[in-house]
Amino acid sequence: MASNGKGMRGRFAPTPSGRLHLGNALTALLAWLQIRSAGGEIVLRLEDLDRQRCKPELAAQLPGELRWLGVDWDEGPDVGGPHVPYEQSERTALYESVLDELQRQGRLYPCYCSRADLQAAASAPHGLDAEGPAYPGTCRELTAAERAERALRKTPSLRFAMDAGAAYRFEDGIAGETAFPGASGGDFVVRRADGIVAYQLAVVADDIDMQITDVLRGWDLLDSTPRQLALYEALGCPPPRFAHSPLLLGADGSRLSKRHGSVSLQELREQFGVRAERLVGFLAWLAGLHDRIEAAKPVELIAAFDLSSVRRQTVTLPNNWIELLTGKKIGTEF
Ligand code: GLU
Repeated sequence: MASNGKGMRGRFAPTPSGRLHLGNALTALLAWLQIRSAGGEIVLRLEDLDRQRCKPELAAQLPGELRWLGVDWDEGPDVGGPHVPYEQSERTALYESVLDELQRQGRLYPCYCSRADLQAAASAPHGLDAEGPAYPGTCRELTAAERAERALRKTPSLRFAMDAGAAYRFEDGIAGETAFPGASGGDFVVRRADGIVAYQLAVVADDIDMQITDVLRGWDLLDSTPRQLALYEALGCPPPRFAHSPLLLGADGSRLSKRHGSVSLQELREQFGVRAERLVGFLAWLAGLHDRIEAAKPVELIAAFDLSSVRRQTVTLPNNWIELLTGKKIGTEF
């Protein structure tokens, strides 16, 4: 991490496919603290490329939800800025130009594999969970005639060809030294068969264009980092620094997600009357920034913030977390 925040730029990059939940709030709070404690700038970007999953009502509510938490930003869909538009669905010309560049370099190839083909090829174990099974490279070496024949039956996706010998290593601001061996999950999709530009491509194109120096995001995206590093390399751009906030699990050990309705900020507010400052204090405690739960505004956490004191391990919510959050047991130690 830069010791001085001059020119430091971070971002919030939520996908408006569900209400903001506890995990998103933790990531947003940490990203905000990282940048604001260094005097840098923050961008809000809505990752709404997948029109079927993303809902305009949710996109419209997002800025208000984040502001309720007490974080702010310098550029975004609601405040404008030098990199408008800040909605990915409006930025496809940029993605197409990046795809053209990679195409010129010969790094992309059409892939005709169906979901079933990929599952069948996925019997070998591998290290990348969130990214799914490593792609075995089935379509990489197809001849022109084989491609033409397959194209009669299926619209292809486009894959980025990883260097066979590539290994990626980086210093994660929270997880520490992180290494991915081999081709890190294999060749990955940059445009889906339905024409939608894939997350990996869009996020790298945007982070370059918006001059993002520091990416702090959820733990689930750690596995995406080697793929993104490969794209930065191919595009000849220096990558940002990365930090991945700890994964939050429910008391039952299952992963918190937007499907767990009871963890959305809206429900915490409406059903349990949770105040933002209480939630922020609770998140700071979960992240290991405080050893007890004390209500706080994000701005009050800036002075003592130190990214290296954020917990590296997965955080499992205690059984009585709602009680802790609502303040019935103030000051409980972890
Ligand atoms: N849009 C992604 C999400 O909501 C975050 C992408 C990123 O931060 O790189 O999980």
